[in-house]
Amino acid sequence: MTTKAYGAHAADKPLQSIDIERRAPGPQDVQIDIAYCGVCHSDLHTARSEWGGTLYPCVPGHEIVGHVSAVGSEVSGFKVGDTVGVGCLVGSCQHCAACDEGLEQYCENGFVGTYNGPTADAPGHTLGGYSQCIVVDKKFVLKIRHSESQLAAVAPLLCAGITTYSPLRHWKVGPGSKVGVVGIGGLGHMGVKLAHAMGAHVVAFTTSDNKRRAALDLGADEVVVSRNADEMKAHANSFDFILNTVAASHSLDAFTSLLKRDGTMVLVGVPEHPHPSPSVANLIFKRRNIAGSLIGGIAETQEMLDFCADKGIVSDIEMIPAQKIDEAYDRMVKGDVKYRFVIDNASLAK
Ligand code: NAP
Ligand code: ZN
Repeated sequence: MTTKAYGAHAADKPLQSIDIERRAPGPQDVQIDIAYCGVCHSDLHTARSEWGGTLYPCVPGHEIVGHVSAVGSEVSGFKVGDTVGVGCLVGSCQHCAACDEGLEQYCENGFVGTYNGPTADAPGHTLGGYSQCIVVDKKFVLKIRHSESQLAAVAPLLCAGITTYSPLRHWKVGPGSKVGVVGIGGLGHMGVKLAHAMGAHVVAFTTSDNKRRAALDLGADEVVVSRNADEMKAHANSFDFILNTVAASHSLDAFTSLLKRDGTMVLVGVPEHPHPSPSVANLIFKRRNIAGSLIGGIAETQEMLDFCADKGIVSDIEMIPAQKIDEAYDRMVKGDVKYRFVIDNASLAK
């Protein structure tokens, strides 16, 4: 089936309207009419090949929400009309130790990303959610229980939500924890909302003075402008956990020195250029940890969606037509978004 999409033909070319092919649904497949797709910084890194290895044409988008429009003969859990989501994963081997534990994102044989991943479908790599329709194996389709009116604001949960939820759960954040969230963008604003909902004391770290008020409204108990050395010093040795979502290279030492003994800073941002090597002394004298975390598995993504539906949590979004995607990328690089762009996929028909 031919479907309209928005994609890039090269790293230095703007995204444009293109026609792509979607496979006819196989027995295990769910076909989804996409209503909205969130715009992740990873989309930008990939479209512009900042990480290298981008295959073109590149159709980004892994924060997908929409409605089931067809199901394969062996699909029982979904029916036409259901409201569903697709995140960063559309395939994994299903038989390694990681897949057995529901950690498909760490599949030992390599997961299939929603875009730029290997597939038998044309053109040989997966094409993402900046498109009218997608066909996905039922194991990678999520159920959405939020109200229909919240649907656009649910889209970012599929990546920004799970990428922050998973480490907060893994490191057992809850009442009594002092948690820092660094970088109040798409991921960071979800990190603040989720850590607050889990009962932690949340401190938002931002480079943008104009986000001070807004970060409190998101659920932060305190806000620190990280360029201000005195404000930083006031929190030395005090954090159990810091979630660092910054999408650019920066000194990690300023944040590791805020951790308590045995505290952990988890990096989820993947900047184009590496961070300067962190100070070893800063780590060893208080047995502090620096760790990483990649999105979340399918079961945990469903758990996060249900947690957010129960608590009334959605993303704060700015809706755009697909035609404004390059402008949105440029604003994202400048940190000028509160807090996630979401594409109205109806605009693709124009
Ligand atoms: P985003 O919306 O652009 O937010 C990043 C935030 O980082 C900005 O809003 C800004 O917040 C801060 N920042 C940007 N440049 C900075 C700089 N030079 N110095 C200090 N702070 C800076 O991006 P996102 O979509 O949240 O994604 C963040 C990163 O996570 C990206 O690298 C993305 O590829 C990665 N990611 C990783 C995973 C994973 O599984 N690990 C999943 C999704 C995305 P302030 O204005 O508050 O300072
Ligand atoms: Zn993402």
